[in-house]
This record gives sequence, structure tokens and C-alpha cells, in this order.
Amino acid sequence: MRSLVELAALLEKDEGMLALSYVLDTTPGALRARRDLFLTEAQEARYLEIVRRRRAGEPLQYAIGEWEFYGHVFRVDERALIPRPETEILVETVLSRDLGGKHIADIGTGTGAIALTLSLEAHPAPAMIYATDLSAAALSLARENGAQLEADAVVQWIEGDGPGALPEPVDVIVSNPPYIDPAEEPSLQPELSYEPREALYSGAPGAGGLAHYASWIGAFREKLRTPGWVFLEIGDRQAEAVSGFFRDAGYQEITVHKDYAGRDRVVAAQWMGLGRKHV
Ligand code: SAM
Ligand code: GLN
Repeated sequence: MRSLVELAALLEKDEGMLALSYVLDTTPGALRARRDLFLTEAQEARYLEIVRRRRAGEPLQYAIGEWEFYGHVFRVDERALIPRPETEILVETVLSRDLGGKHIADIGTGTGAIALTLSLEAHPAPAMIYATDLSAAALSLARENGAQLEADAVVQWIEGDGPGALPEPVDVIVSNPPYIDPAEEPSLQPELSYEPREALYSGAPGAGGLAHYASWIGAFREKLRTPGWVFLEIGDRQAEAVSGFFRDAGYQEITVHKDYAGRDRVVAAQWMGLGRKHV
């Protein structure tokens, strides 16, 4: 039987301990204090399968099959993008507002990370959360997460393209759209090739990854009540362009929020209707 330390050493850096913490349903911190622990045969088999898949190049998250986002464990696999820590900043920014009784939309929900976290963490609770995606595969995973986390009571899943898929105007639109310029693909981590392309890349190579913002920010206006709010995750060099799209479309109170590394990560804006554009 191999010790915890020996098993952890099968993966690089902290990845072994992290994977073991999922297999043993605990945290890496708690595990470090329990180095005398031995795995059951089934646990060791599951861990060795994670090691095999990780060494074959898969992202650690897919090899494990689950990943924590905002304190909740989501099922993750190749059907949808792995929820990123930077998206917690987006969720935190939205949660800083009173969402009680509000109708919310999460456009491009992937694993359901944003919609389901808002459903679990917003107090008082929103009245309705529409969670959309173009990808039927992503939505099937999101549904599984909703059921597993028991977080889908006010969530309605919608398969469709962009804001047009929403059945009615809402108070708050949240989205982490694809925003990577496809020209950057060769210089990115090879693990990204395991994630759905349509979750990552936006627009033509060399165009800055801005295509989704360019078409959605104007279209959101038809799907917002007044006053309405939009919160978008952005790449760290896109704040100026995305703020400009909001300005040109007549939104107000356009603000940029940074992540813990000090990089621009979220743009928020208020929609008061066209009539008050110049007030
Ligand atoms: N919201 C999830 C998160 O933050 O982890 C996933 C974000 S991922 C960057 C973008 C998501 O948008 C993907 O799930 C993708 O399938 C979806 N998507 C891409 N284009 C779309 C479109 N035109 N309409 C709806 N969803 C779209
Ligand atoms: N933040 C992700 C990455 O850099 C990209 C997610 C997105 O395109 N919305 O891998």
C-alpha cells in the first residue's frame, strides 16, 4: 500500500494533493495534517485513473470530474468550460447588489456555475434565473449540476443563441462569454484544447476576441427592464473596448472591476432606457 505522500508525488506541484482531496472528499489543508492516512482500494483506483488521464494531457479538473467554484462542487467534463476562479469575481460583483425578487439571465451558462451559484448565494432570493446556452451538451451538464446541488428551483434552462433566446426582459443580465482571440490559440496552454471551442474563442483571428460583446451589448437592451443591469466578464485587455460598446449603446454608470491580481475582469453597466441617454 502506498502512503499519501507517495501517491501525491505521482502528479506535479500541488496537483496530487488536490486530486487526493477530491477523492477523499476533504481539503488539501486537512489532508496535509493526515499524512498517515491510507486509501481504500476503490479510492486508490480512482486516484490512479486521475493520474493516468492527467499524464495523458487532460486538464486536472476533467480528470477529477468535479471542481469547486465559489465554495460549491460542480461536475465538470468536456461538455462545458471548466469554471475559472476569475469568474468568482463576476459572481461576487453581481452578489453585491440586492437580487431579491429579481429576474436574472445568465447567457452562456456552461456548467451552470454562475446561475446556480447566484441561486444558492443570493439572499433574499431572485424570483427567476434564466440560464441559456447554445450548446445542448453544456446544458445537459448544467442540469445535472442543478439537480445535484439542489439549486435549480428558480432556474429555467434554455437552449438558444445569445440574448434572443430569453423569453422576457429581465432585471439583471450576467455573462461570461467567449472572449479569447483565436489568433492567440497557439500560445495558450495545451489543456485548453480539451474544452469546447465555442466556449473560449470569439470572432475572427486578430479581431481581439470582442465579437460577442459587440453583438450582445446592443441586443441586451431589448431584454432589459428599466432600470436594468448588465455584468460581463472580460479579458484583461478588453475593458476599454467593452466600456465603449456600452457607452455607444446608451448605457450609464459603466464601471470596471478588477480581480485579485489587479487585472480588469468585469464591466458593469446600467440600462435606463433610450430616452434618458443624455441625462
Ligand atoms: N458561464 C460559464 C462559466 O463562466 O464557467 C461558461 C462560460 S464559457 C466562457 C461561454 C459559454 O457561452 C459556453 O458555454 C458556450 O457554449 C456559450 N456560448 C457561446 N456562444 C454562445 C451563443 N451565441 N449563445 C449562447 N451561448 C453561447
Ligand atoms: N478566462 C478564460 C481563459 O483565459 C477564458 C474564458 C472566456 O473566454 N470567457 O482561459
